[in-house]
Amino acid sequence: MHRVTQGPKFTVARAEGVWLWDESGDRYLDGTASLWYCNVGHGRKEIADAVHRQMTELEAYTVYGDFANAPAIELSERLAAHAPVADPRVILSCGGGESIETAAKLARRYFAAVGAPERTHLISRTGGYHGLHGFGTGIIGMDRFREGFGPTVEDSSVVPHDSAAALEAEILRVGPERVAAFFAEPVIGAGGVYAPEPGYFEEVSRICRRYGVLFVADSVICGFARLGDWFGIERFGVRPDMLVFAKGVTSGYLPLGGVVVDGRIAEPFWNRPGNPFHHGTTYAGHPSCCAAAQANMDILEREDLFTVAREIEVQLESAVRTLEDHPLVEEVRAGTGVMAAVKLNAEAAERGVTSPDVFTEARSRGVVVRAIPETLLISPPLVITWEQIEHLVATVRGALDAVA
Ligand code: PLP
Repeated sequence: MHRVTQGPKFTVARAEGVWLWDESGDRYLDGTASLWYCNVGHGRKEIADAVHRQMTELEAYTVYGDFANAPAIELSERLAAHAPVADPRVILSCGGGESIETAAKLARRYFAAVGAPERTHLISRTGGYHGLHGFGTGIIGMDRFREGFGPTVEDSSVVPHDSAAALEAEILRVGPERVAAFFAEPVIGAGGVYAPEPGYFEEVSRICRRYGVLFVADSVICGFARLGDWFGIERFGVRPDMLVFAKGVTSGYLPLGGVVVDGRIAEPFWNRPGNPFHHGTTYAGHPSCCAAAQANMDILEREDLFTVAREIEVQLESAVRTLEDHPLVEEVRAGTGVMAAVKLNAEAAERGVTSPDVFTEARSRGVVVRAIPETLLISPPLVITWEQIEHLVATVRGALDAVA
C-alpha cells in the first residue's frame, strides 16, 4: 500500500536526457516528456546549479504588496519580451491550472472594473484541457472531469473545437454583453492532439474582437518550443488578450506558470493603490523557480530548440504515420508541434484492446507513452534523436501487435 495518490506505483528513480530508470535499474524512453513539460530533457545540471545559486542567495520571498525580487522581475521582463501580446504585463503563478484561475478571474474583474459586470460567461472548446482547479474544472471540454463535483462554473459553455462559426453562434446565443472570455489551446493537447484548421484562429480572433470577448490562449503545453516558438500561438499569427503558460517554462524542474496580459486588460489594476484585483498566491514569483525558468530558457535559446523542434515535428509525424496501416489503428494525428496521437479503432474495441493495454505493453518494452480513452499520446522531450523516435514508434507497433 502506497501513500502517494492512487493506484499501484511504477516508481521512477532517475532520469537523464530522454531516458528514465525505475527502481530496479530498468531503462525507459520518456515518450511524453513526463506530463508534456520536460522540453529540454532530464538531468540538466545547469538548471540545478542555477537553482542552487539562487537558493543560497534568496531562496524565497513572497511577491506581495510592494514586495518583489530580482529573479521574478527579470523573468517577467524576458517573458514579456517574447510574448505576442500588446503592452504585456506578467502575473506569475505556480502552474497551469493556477494560471487559468488568474486569467478567468482577471477577465471577469476587468469587465467589472470597466462597467460591464454582467460579462461573466466563459466559453471553451470540446477536448480543451485547462487544469483541474475551480475554473479549469468548470470550463474543461471533457465531461468526465466534472462528474461528481457538483456545480462548478455555471455561466460557461463548451463549443466544438473545430468551428469558429460555432463560437460566434454561442456568443450570440448567450448574448455578447454577457460573455467575458474564450479559452483555447493553440493545439489541443491532453484532449487528444487536435491542431486547428487553417485560418481558424484568425477567424476566432476576429469574432472575439467583434463582440468584445477576451481571447485567452492556453499555451501551457504548446509553449517553450513544443510548437517551434515561445508561446505556440505565434504560429497562427494572432495576438491573444491573455496568454497562459506553465510546464515548458521551467521544463518542470520547478513548478512555475503565469499569465501574460495585454496592458489594456491589466491597466485598471496595475500598480494601482488599493489594487482591486484581490488575487494571488504565496509562492507566485518564487525566486528559485524563476531561476530554473531562466536557466531553462537559456538552454532553449543556446541550443535553438525552436528550430530543432520544427525538425523533430516532421520526423515524429513521418514515423508515427507509419502506424496508420496497423489493423488496430483508426487514425494518427500529428504534424503541428512535437506531439502526436494514435487513435485505436473499432476492431481494437471488439477485441477488448484498450489504450491502457497498449500503454502498459509499451512500457514493459521500455517506452513510456500516455493513454487517454481510445488513444495514445506521444510528446517527447525536444532533445530526442531520429533513432530514438524510430525506436519509440517501433516499440508502440510491437506493443500493438502483442495486445492484438
Ligand atoms: N492547461 C493546459 C493546456 C494543460 O495541458 C494543463 C496541464 O496539463 C493545464 C492547463 C494545467 O496545468 P497544471 O497541471 O500545472 O495545473
